[in-house]
Amino acid sequence: MSTSTMQPANFIEDIIIKDLESGKHGGRVVTRFPPEPNGYLHIGHAKSICLNFGLAKKFGGVCHLRFDDTDPAKEEPEYVEAIKRDVKWLGFDWGDKLFHAADYFEALYEFAVELIQQGKAYVDDLSPEQMREYRGTLTEPGKNSPYRDRSIEENLDLFQRMRAGEFPDGARVLRAKIDMSSPNMNMRDPVIYRIKRVEHHRTGNDWVIYPMYDFAHPISDALEGITHSICTLEFEDNRPLYEWFLNNVSVPCHPQQIEFARLNLAYTITSKRRLLRLVELGHVSGWDDPRVPTIAGVRRRGYTPEAIRDLCDRVGVAKNNSLVDMAMLEHCVREDLNRRAPRAMAVLRPLRVVIENFPEGQVEELEAINNPEDRSMGTRKVPLSRVIYIEQEDFMEDPPKGYRRLAPGREVRLRYGYVIKCEDVVKNEQGEVVELRCTCDFETLGGSTPDGRKVRGIIHWVSAEHAVPAEVRLYDRLFTIENPAEVEDYVEYVNPKSLEVLTECMLEPSLAEASPGSFYQFERQGYFCVDIVDSKPDQLVFNRTVALRDTWAKIQKRQR
Ligand code: ATP
Ligand code: MG
Repeated sequence: MSTSTMQPANFIEDIIIKDLESGKHGGRVVTRFPPEPNGYLHIGHAKSICLNFGLAKKFGGVCHLRFDDTDPAKEEPEYVEAIKRDVKWLGFDWGDKLFHAADYFEALYEFAVELIQQGKAYVDDLSPEQMREYRGTLTEPGKNSPYRDRSIEENLDLFQRMRAGEFPDGARVLRAKIDMSSPNMNMRDPVIYRIKRVEHHRTGNDWVIYPMYDFAHPISDALEGITHSICTLEFEDNRPLYEWFLNNVSVPCHPQQIEFARLNLAYTITSKRRLLRLVELGHVSGWDDPRVPTIAGVRRRGYTPEAIRDLCDRVGVAKNNSLVDMAMLEHCVREDLNRRAPRAMAVLRPLRVVIENFPEGQVEELEAINNPEDRSMGTRKVPLSRVIYIEQEDFMEDPPKGYRRLAPGREVRLRYGYVIKCEDVVKNEQGEVVELRCTCDFETLGGSTPDGRKVRGIIHWVSAEHAVPAEVRLYDRLFTIENPAEVEDYVEYVNPKSLEVLTECMLEPSLAEASPGSFYQFERQGYFCVDIVDSKPDQLVFNRTVALRDTWAKIQKRQR
């Protein structure tokens, strides 16, 4: 491939193009996405997935999926499977490049022995508290551990016995011997192995010592021949350590670590640990609750992989962290669904309307357009009969000026149908409007009126006799504060109104067969999808994916 004509889209591509030109990695591009299987992936991870797989694709390389499973205490096979499903769903394929850091445990052990043999690692007996004390602070250098100058032989012996299970958990650690006075705290003799008797989901009880992330990660990268090891900004200070390990053990190659800014979304959280807490406390129904910004959650909500990839593109690759507005993600979702979602009529809060001059028992099939953005999606027939449902909010007894919908004595057009006029209002004992009596002007089909009178309002409706009842779930933002990631008690700020369940919705009959996961635009209401978990053929459940207009931006404007 010729790189001389390529335009780098961001600073990482710039690095890759230069490396390809100089032949630095032998002209190869190998990236990896390295999740720890300690929770479900979220939108932030989507950014990293799109970036790593995207770079491999653009530059004719490969991207590995590697489970960073070095801490068995928090890791589970359920998460491994969920992560694979989510990466695939986003549209990426790792082919046969599926790896697990746990598969390198033996090799990692050998590299640790190598460090000991060079006098570059030692077994330390300090307690965790003492170690913290010896570590120093940002302004003060640390102190050498009294065990730092153990002989190579003693270290080899102790490390081997750590592995053999001779010492209790936490009694000893293996540390890299670097520099206790380094201004970079990460370089102050970091721990590289700890004793931890926890069963591992891949290696069972084979090991009682487990490597630390900072040690396992660069070596795993090198063993896989990764060329560009892309991670988020908080690892910038770990880079010297990443380099140190690669420079001091006999790995086959030297990957380059490159940092970029995390994707953070306003009014929600992208942290597995924090999401797990919401799940455990029951604030959401699970990792796939449609309010949660996990990939599983947004999939169930009805967001498409296309929209998420589009968001990641638009956000770009930056060097400083920022908070992306939810409106931007919703905008991407709307753009995609607008092109692809078939239209349908659904009444969420029904009000019964009897069209008095519409003959009892008669059904008229009206032609409706499936998608005005894409005429190739064709048309369908929608039945109209004497009794219909309209939206409660499309009627007002005492309307303000400029109201274009139905009111006593006023006219409105039924979408794809006739103009109706409200003749009478029926109320219950509490004085609530329970039914409207209307008449229909049969001369008004096709958008015109015989006398040229103007009827500006058009409302959606569903024939009562043909309606399919359904439950519809409306969602609002998960938190009441913009940046819940910044506060410790974020759980206190879960929006109590983030879910509204409407159980008496009425859908047009074409939706009776809607299959789980399929999406629609309910006219004037937004984009909806059939819930993939709770919807049943005899009891449909729809999620509102996103409202039609950008209500979010409006709310923000009002607050300002
Ligand atoms: P969390 O705090 O949610 O557990 P993490 O970074 O610990 O996130 P990992 O499983 O270690 O989760 O992440 C796998 C990869 O995804 C890493 O390379 C990490 O840098 C990247 N990543 C995680 N969160 C984000 C984010 N918000 N934006 C971009 N990349 C991210
Ligand atoms: Mg992590």
